[in-house]
Amino acid sequence: MSLDDDARTELAELEAAQLRRIPRVVDGRQGVVVVVDGTEVVSFASNDYLGLAGDRRLAAAAASSLDEDGVGAGASRLIIGNHRSHVTLEAELAAWMRCGGVQLFNTGYAANVGIMTTLLRAGDVVFSDELNHASIIDGCRLSRAEVVVYPHNDVAALDRLLRERNGSRRIVVSESLFSMDGDLADVAALAALARHHDAALILDEAHAIGALGPEGRGVAASLGVVPDVVVGTFGKALGTFGAFAASSRAISELLWNRARPLVFSTGLPPSIAAATRVALDIVRGSEGDTRRRQLASHARSFRAQVPEVGGSPESAIAPLIVGDEARTMQLGARLLAASQLVSTVRPPTVPRGTARLRMSFSAAHSIEQVQTVGRIMQRVIGAS
Ligand code: PMP
Repeated sequence: MSLDDDARTELAELEAAQLRRIPRVVDGRQGVVVVVDGTEVVSFASNDYLGLAGDRRLAAAAASSLDEDGVGAGASRLIIGNHRSHVTLEAELAAWMRCGGVQLFNTGYAANVGIMTTLLRAGDVVFSDELNHASIIDGCRLSRAEVVVYPHNDVAALDRLLRERNGSRRIVVSESLFSMDGDLADVAALAALARHHDAALILDEAHAIGALGPEGRGVAASLGVVPDVVVGTFGKALGTFGAFAASSRAISELLWNRARPLVFSTGLPPSIAAATRVALDIVRGSEGDTRRRQLASHARSFRAQVPEVGGSPESAIAPLIVGDEARTMQLGARLLAASQLVSTVRPPTVPRGTARLRMSFSAAHSIEQVQTVGRIMQRVIGAS
């Protein structure tokens, strides 16, 4: 058998299990109305929660930086790719997050892998929520620490496990707003448990940064909790690309020295940092507040209309758990036939038997668009 034959066999298996993924192609600008595979649809599928991905102010900042600074960073930031825009953005993020240091990463995936592998080593124990994102799971695995997976959001079980499992260093890691379930971790309880058991807390706020909390600083900030590391991403509410780790100054500097995805990878294009600075300005100001209010209002009104969906009341992520993969795809296709694009999420993104439709709202949706998808969704669920 050649590698190619093996690949064909595996693809056929994926196809038979309704798990083969076929790419969709977008033309033009990201937004609530998008051209997908040549057809205009209303999208409830992106993580562009504040409607900034297609914003012309961000594009103008990127364009002006492209003109001034060129396209590529040229090398790893530790070599010669450390542009003034990176450093300024880090300082602005640290001031916003009120922490000692911020380290940029090229993606949220790279951030989680870099953070877990830098802060954990053999002999340590990491306590990880069972629904944590793949990048956290991969970072934990690569770190060589012992990984203890606790049941989703089960703080009593975590407390028990923290009593039982010792290591030279212990870290609890969780998302704050879970990406596929739209529910919130009990961040206050996680922080209290970690403190009580002398463990550290790493909180992935990828879906909360920009969308929740005072000035969009996330769930921990809304509770006055200070985790050891907060991970934020730019590709979601901030509308650009990349990620950051907010921590103490020493942890931040250690990441700069040790985090392999950072040390061994070309720096973010300066234009992305420039666009992100503009996004940050919008997010932390009064326009950000207005957009966050609009987003929460969409989430609440949709849940009132379609109570079958899960997630916290104000969360912009609303899953409808279907279970069966084929039926999930069928429901997604029916919604698409009515020009409503909703993500169909299957294993391995979610656990087997929990395939689902995942809707996400944007502050840029109109209330009419939210009500329309609610009506169509009720009809589609009811009809099958
Ligand atoms: N963490 C979480 C919780 C995520 O949902 C994602 C992206 N889906 C990431 C990290 C990775 O972020 P990025 O897309 O920037 O790699």
